[in-house]
Amino acid sequence: MNHVNLLDFDARELLAWCQEHGEKAFRARQLLRWIHQQGASDFAVMTDLAKSFRATLGATAVVAAPSVIADQVSSDGTRKWLLDVGGNDAIESVFIPETTRGTLCISTQAGCAVNCRFCSTGKQGFSRNLSLFEIIGQLWWANRLLGDVSEGEDKGARRISNVVLMGMGEPLLNYEASVKAMQLMLDDNAYGLSRRRVTLSTSGVVPMMDRLGHDCAVALAVSLHAPNDALRDELVPLNRKYPLRELLAACMRYLEHAPRDFITFEYVMLDGINDSDVHAKELVELVKDVPCKINLIPFNPFPNAGLKRSPAERIRAFGRRLQDAGIVTTTRKTRGDDIDAACGQLAGEVQDRTRLVERGMKKMVPIQEIRA
Ligand code: SAH
Ligand code: SF4
Repeated sequence: MNHVNLLDFDARELLAWCQEHGEKAFRARQLLRWIHQQGASDFAVMTDLAKSFRATLGATAVVAAPSVIADQVSSDGTRKWLLDVGGNDAIESVFIPETTRGTLCISTQAGCAVNCRFCSTGKQGFSRNLSLFEIIGQLWWANRLLGDVSEGEDKGARRISNVVLMGMGEPLLNYEASVKAMQLMLDDNAYGLSRRRVTLSTSGVVPMMDRLGHDCAVALAVSLHAPNDALRDELVPLNRKYPLRELLAACMRYLEHAPRDFITFEYVMLDGINDSDVHAKELVELVKDVPCKINLIPFNPFPNAGLKRSPAERIRAFGRRLQDAGIVTTTRKTRGDDIDAACGQLAGEVQDRTRLVERGMKKMVPIQEIRA
């Protein structure tokens, strides 16, 4: 008999499943807490559930996340996991610790069909959408493997305070599973994060941005990268379908639902391509009516990218121009680049695994060890 994977259920589906097995609603809530708050996968530890229910669970269900194939730690504390999702695909998630928060960056697809010119995930092509258990499984694993804060004021707190859907894939092209995963992140009986602490990043799938505003209005980051359609068509091919005017109008509509009163625009700094003073001026003009912050991302190189990162001084000058025009602008610190964990470097193909060692992987932990 096939066991059902309870990690692949959202709260409503778990409730329905429990009711089908003759259990009351509060049992479903208990089970949800065991799975997502405690990170439990063994029904035997769930001692507040009736023995008979635990026996049913043991006979018919499992809590199974994708297996962790590699666990790497960067010199700056950034940690990256490679998860096997079968069929020669692997995905990556990255934990970025900072003084006041801990951010987990998760993937939503194996590969990506949008094929942005500067992105190594895009270069791999699209393999498939991840299922709910594969998306939420990244948070489930990270919470388990990181453990709680062990000392100080925050003792006992979770290390992950924020989640960003900014890893591999375009979350709005895997809409249903991404939304279900985010709803679990927001559920008080699961991860209990506020809508401001969950950020979805999109390359601009306009109709899905509207749906997201209605279904699950989390913080929104939009990958802009160019101040005009001609350049954006080249860098983000999806722009040919949803050009800038439509994208910015969708941002305005989203703001009616958003938990924050601004949209974050991401702008990757590519030497000689989109980083001139003229581009900065055009960008100011483009976004002048949209409440926004701009996040400049120094391009992170990968093999055969054929592109270069803008020099630090150029990034500073570009940022100053935006700031002088009154736009709050930040420059993303590149973290974890010694383990290829920086934005746009996530590759994760299984075929690529052997190269991890060459690329200077610090630590490869066998799965048995991780589980222990
Ligand atoms: N598909 C979504 C989310 C994943 S990409 C999106 O495009 O928004 C997350 C962010 O990383 C995007 O802003 C993307 O443009 C950026 N990125 C991709 N490749 C990069 C690279 N090589 N260097 C720096 N940032 C990159
Ligand atoms: Fe896909 Fe985002 Fe990479 Fe573009 S930047 S190819 S949308 S993952």
